Amino acid sequence: MKRLLGLALSLFAVLPTGGQTIAIRAGNLIDPAKGSISKNQIVLVQNGKITAVGGSLAIPQDAQVIDLSREWVMPGLIDAHTHVTLNEIPGKAPFEASYLKEGTALRGFRGLHNAGILLQAGFTTLREVGNEANYACSDLKKAINMGWFDGPTLQCAGKIIGPFGGQSKGMPAEAGEFWKFEYLDADSPDEIVKAIHEDIYYGADVIKLATDNSDFFYSENNIRVAATEAHNAGRALAVHVYGGPAADAVIRGGADSVEHGFALTDEQLRLMKEKGTFLVGTDFPTEHLAGLNPSNDTLADANKLGKSIIDRLSRANKIGVKMAFGSDTVTEMSGRTRADMMFDYLAVWRAADVVPENILKAMTSNGAELLRINKERGAIAAGQFADIVAMPGNPLQDVESLWKINFVMKNGKVVRSAK
Ligand SMILES: [Zn+2]
Repeated sequence: MKRLLGLALSLFAVLPTGGQTIAIRAGNLIDPAKGSISKNQIVLVQNGKITAVGGSLAIPQDAQVIDLSREWVMPGLIDAHTHVTLNEIPGKAPFEASYLKEGTALRGFRGLHNAGILLQAGFTTLREVGNEANYACSDLKKAINMGWFDGPTLQCAGKIIGPFGGQSKGMPAEAGEFWKFEYLDADSPDEIVKAIHEDIYYGADVIKLATDNSDFFYSENNIRVAATEAHNAGRALAVHVYGGPAADAVIRGGADSVEHGFALTDEQLRLMKEKGTFLVGTDFPTEHLAGLNPSNDTLADANKLGKSIIDRLSRANKIGVKMAFGSDTVTEMSGRTRADMMFDYLAVWRAADVVPENILKAMTSNGAELLRINKERGAIAAGQFADIVAMPGNPLQDVESLWKINFVMKNGKVVRSAK
């Protein structure tokens, strides 16, 4: 009996609304894909999905009504480059210290903590692009999907695939191949295919390569092999690369997204536009860069990189490259949450003169397209999962209004409400 009751309760958590219809009165309904606002709309939600949207819809008598008639309402936010399970230790500690000191269980708990905070802030979908120990994201995703915890929809990359050495450089041979806690070495087409299969077997929804952490990098053909294998399995291929000939290979080889791309030239950005390659620019605010790792340990270094990031974002925006918002937040800042840190990126996008309409698009419909979930998420339309946020100000006028999100619905369940 107890077990049956437990089962009933967990089902209730998965489908909190039961069959009851929820009717949201949306005073200002934003369509980020079009940059438009429709006044006084009604959004009907049933069993986690949006069933109808319109200005003159009849509200069923037994519907639960949520009044957002004074708010700006839009689809839930998507971050296409997160590391919610990771905490990179700031200062002089080597990058490897973060994963040598924390095991998979702790990383899972860290992910749960951060995922909950981000959902409350309005991020209803996250793409976790590796550095999750031994597939911590896969289990976190399962726990959220089972309804044990409220959290964003997660896509996981599993272990990052790269040429020998992962993202560690210059390690002594006697230290052993310890990076395999977090990375899969793959140095030929056959090894790349095997690594992709291994990741997918353990729960990867996206394939993540890191290609330019050594003096060697993946050839165009290697990228093409990875893209083909990922696409055959219905996954996108995301590649960590900064620029140079490694980035040429990534773009020409058919990756779905360049992650970071801090040193991309105009020519490379134009090629990305032509091929439809997404830029997930992880456009770090300068204050986050300072002290993040030993190469940015002076304010002057951080300022220099911060400026070049704004310049690259501005050039990509002017050229018209498709962009998806990705934060790559990997540290903890005292007194601030990961959500605070993610919203800090808005100032970088503003500094690069990206208009709010394009920022909102990068955080919703573009993210959904890159994640291959645009038929399910990223818009407020019939047939989509009800991932909906609201705030008291207009983000198309002032994008910093996103800081004030005070209503969050995920899969039709209200997880935050100021009402
Ligand atoms: Zn990253």
